[in-house]
Amino acid sequence: MAGTSTMIVVSAHAADFVWRAGGTIALYAGRGWRVRILCLSFGERGESQGAWKQPGMTIERVKEIRQVESARAAAILGAEIRCFDCGDYPIALTQETIDAMVGEFRELQPALVLTHSAADPYNLDHPIAHQVTLQTRIYAQALGYPTPGKPIGAPPVFMFEPHQPEQCGFTPDVLLDVTSAWDAKHRAMESMEAQKHLWEYYTDLGRRRGVQAVRNGGPASIKYAEAFERVYPQVTGDLS
Ligand SMILES: [Zn+2]
Repeated sequence: MAGTSTMIVVSAHAADFVWRAGGTIALYAGRGWRVRILCLSFGERGESQGAWKQPGMTIERVKEIRQVESARAAAILGAEIRCFDCGDYPIALTQETIDAMVGEFRELQPALVLTHSAADPYNLDHPIAHQVTLQTRIYAQALGYPTPGKPIGAPPVFMFEPHQPEQCGFTPDVLLDVTSAWDAKHRAMESMEAQKHLWEYYTDLGRRRGVQAVRNGGPASIKYAEAFERVYPQVTGDLS
């Protein structure tokens, strides 16, 4: 896949990438980008309410269900997925996991990185994912860090929208038009049967962000958008 641009999406749990960035993933995959999701855990304890309501459920069975769901959602969006199975509540990161993440960054040389916001008082796994994403990017840049592979440049990092943005200190500075990718996002959301209660919520959110995108100067053709906040400054030759 020489010459293909790559996006890395770091997701704390099995479905976070779907709700928060599914439209963006499908949009870029549709443009021919390689999109690789690094999923830290299956969210088996904290984000699998539907599965736990089934009688006789076990932690291993929940993980299997979530693995199947996340793989199916990634395929619908046109992305690859790797799950590190670090556990959730809490996500327990080992040095091996961090080194494996650095290896992914060095191999893929991402042009864009997406991850969680820095704060989330409703789910402390999400800030862990944010932190390890920045940690991985920094280590992957360092010539002296011992993981094999070529050090990376400085790909921009975009934080995707948390479930309750105000409490997470999330102030979007990018609204991406994902109208053309919405059908794929909708199908990916519907493949997450353990979290049916979120389907309508995130459809409404996509519509509201679409309205805001038009209000902020986007074309009237925008029906759905996803919101992001940059971690690092945008570098540009033109103010826009
Ligand atoms: Zn999550």
